[in-house]
Amino acid sequence: MRPFAYTRVSDTGAALAAGRRGGRYIAGGTTLVDLMRETVEQPDELVDISSLELREVATTAGGALRIGALVTMAEAAAHLEVRTNFPVISQALELSASAQLRNMATIGGNIMQRTRCTYFRDVSAACNKRRPGTGCAALDGHNRSHAILGGSDSCVATHASDVAVAFAALEATVEVLGPDGQRSVPFAEFLLRPGDTPEREHALRPGELITAVEIPAHPRPLRSGYLKVRDRQSYEFALTSAAVALHVQGGVIRAAKVAAGGVGTVPWKLSAVEVRLVGQRPSESLWAEAAEAAADGARSLQHNGFKVDLLKRTVQRQLRIVGGNK
Ligand code: SF4
Repeated sequence: MRPFAYTRVSDTGAALAAGRRGGRYIAGGTTLVDLMRETVEQPDELVDISSLELREVATTAGGALRIGALVTMAEAAAHLEVRTNFPVISQALELSASAQLRNMATIGGNIMQRTRCTYFRDVSAACNKRRPGTGCAALDGHNRSHAILGGSDSCVATHASDVAVAFAALEATVEVLGPDGQRSVPFAEFLLRPGDTPEREHALRPGELITAVEIPAHPRPLRSGYLKVRDRQSYEFALTSAAVALHVQGGVIRAAKVAAGGVGTVPWKLSAVEVRLVGQRPSESLWAEAAEAAADGARSLQHNGFKVDLLKRTVQRQLRIVGGNK
C-alpha cells in the first residue's frame, strides 16, 4: 500500500476544506481500504468523516424519510420507521454483505461503492474504469456477472449495491453539501452509466460530501420488498434482484415503483413495468405480463444471456410476493 496522509475531521467545514484540496472521504472504509490494499486506489490523503453528525434517521415534516449518510447499514435496516414504512430498504440491506460489514459500512459509502468486476480489481488486466483508454477485459473475458442493461463498448460492469436498487425504485434523492452549498440530486441522475467515460461513476462535484439520502413520501399503505437471486444464499452479490413497492387501493394498483439490480451498470429503474401495473387489478397474469417488459433493451454478452429470463422471472416473483397471488 502506498503511504498516504490521514486527517480526522469533526465538522463539515473541515471536511469540505479537506475535500477541496483533493482528500478522499472515508467512513466505514469497507470498500476503499480493500482497493488501497490491492493498489487499485492510491489516494494521497484520506479524510475520516466518521465523527460528523450525519447519523440520524428521521421523518421530515412533509413525510419523507431522511437517512443520514453515516448511518450504518445495520442501523438503517433495524430502524423502526424503515422497517415499518419501507421494508424494501431493510430487506435490501439485510441481504447485503456480512453482519460484520453491515456494522461498519455506511449508507453514503454503500451507494458510492465501486464495482465488483474482477478485472477492475486485477491491476494487471485491461480496464477502462481503472485506467481510461486501456480497454475492457470483460468484453471478451468471463462476463457472467456483468451487465445486460446500460453497458457500452467501454465498460459493462454492474453496480453492486442492493440498497441503491431500493432507492432507485423509491425515487430517492441524494443530499449533497459542497463548496457551493447544498443541493439535492435525484437518484436517477446520481449514478452514471459508463458511456465513453466509465471512470466517471457519480454526479458528485470535486469536494462534495453526501449528507443524507431522502426517500419522498409515498401514498400509504405501501407494500414493498426486495428479492435477491444469487449463486449462494449469503455474502454474495446479485445475479438479479428486484425492488418492488405497490400502493393498492380499492383493489386497483394506484402506484408502482420497481427497479432491478445485478443487471445494469447502474440500479435499473423499470419504468416500462411500472406503466403496465398502474391502474390494473393485481393478478397472476398481470405480474407475468408486466415482468415481460423488465428486460426491454437488454444486450447480453457471451456468458450472461441467462440474465434476460432470470430478470423477468425475478421481477414476476417479487410482484407476486408484494402484490399477492390472486
Ligand atoms: Fe473495467 Fe468495466 Fe471492463 Fe470491468 S467491465 S474490466 S470495470 S472497463
